[in-house]
Amino acid sequence: MPKWPWVGIKSLCGLRLCLVGAAALPGPVAVINVEEDSANPLHHVNHGIISPCTLDAGPDSVEIGMNRIPVIENPQYFRHGHNCNKPTTYVQHIKRRDINLKRELGEGAFGKVFLADCYNLSLTKDKMLVAIKTLKDPTLAARKDFQREAELLTNLQHDHIVKFYGVCVDGDPLIMVFEYMKHGDLNKFLRAHGPDAIILVDGQPLQTNGELGLSQMLHIASQIAAGIIYLASQHFVHRDLATRNCLVGNGMLVKIGDFGMSRDIYSTDYYRVGGHTMLPIRWMPPESIMYRKFTTESDVWSFGVILWEIFTYGKQPWFQLANNEVIDCITQGRALECPWLCPKEIYDIMLGCWQREPQQRFNIKDIQKMLITLMKATPVYLDILG
Ligand code: AMP
Repeated sequence: MPKWPWVGIKSLCGLRLCLVGAAALPGPVAVINVEEDSANPLHHVNHGIISPCTLDAGPDSVEIGMNRIPVIENPQYFRHGHNCNKPTTYVQHIKRRDINLKRELGEGAFGKVFLADCYNLSLTKDKMLVAIKTLKDPTLAARKDFQREAELLTNLQHDHIVKFYGVCVDGDPLIMVFEYMKHGDLNKFLRAHGPDAIILVDGQPLQTNGELGLSQMLHIASQIAAGIIYLASQHFVHRDLATRNCLVGNGMLVKIGDFGMSRDIYSTDYYRVGGHTMLPIRWMPPESIMYRKFTTESDVWSFGVILWEIFTYGKQPWFQLANNEVIDCITQGRALECPWLCPKEIYDIMLGCWQREPQQRFNIKDIQKMLITLMKATPVYLDILG
């Protein structure tokens, strides 16, 4: 039985999740060689992953930088496996001929993200706009991870988790099909709606998109909180909650939609430890930085940082500091400063998320209630931020 009451997991293209309370869970462990796996910033299971169906119990550690950390596989990933005499998750398969690429949306650690038309996906519409994530030239191990990832995503369904439609595996590249979120990632959205936003037309500054008001900021935050409540109810820990990993759709609908590909664009948000391991230290609590301990409470810490990002219109936390200085600050107990014009009640929520002791941190359900209460009282503040 591993010493740590948590389970490490890293997904191929998707949510970086781990199942909490692992010490209570029986099951074999996997050896994960982080150095071999450059694809994901946190925990890497792409290569060297061994399913509980086939694995004999073995050494349960992973080396990240200087530390040897016990990591065991996330049983959730295999709950729906094919060989374990357990119910099978039916991942929807989409035919390649039903996908019609339109344009590139972005690029991540695994490949490009495209906007596409997808035919025969909806019963009511002939075609739908979707976002597709591609994985080129996968190894056998990467293929297996892709399958597991698809099973996991098929099972995660919530209004504030980006919708996963299925996979396309007839040929290369492998494709995951997701709902298209019109306004892209939340960090970009916040910056585009902040005081510094300038739109360039023919190289000339034209106009801003209009600053977000307090009620909109609270609306964004409470939707992310709803997504985290759902993940916690599924006993999943995300481990990389940040605005860059949320997506914005019509009507300011916000969903957690991280597919592990944001590292390329946002590489300065991650800190490289050892060979290829990248950690989002600016979003991590002391126990995650020092012991790689990730729990629902560490997700709550990250949520506090998300609140700070929202109220700074997408600034990078500790932007004035280098990574090693950030580590010193966080481990010594320094907190991010109250953003300009941020109401005290909201900064108090941030501070509640940043309690040093994980058990002292606010509960995510309580946080969501506080945000909704503040939202109802928003007219009082509207003149300040609106
Ligand atoms: P990612 O690597 O997942 O962060 O994706 C790269 C970029 O593609 C993001 O910054 C988004 O702007 C965009 N993107 C990713 N997924 C979607 C989606 N479902 N809908 C719209 N845009 C997306």
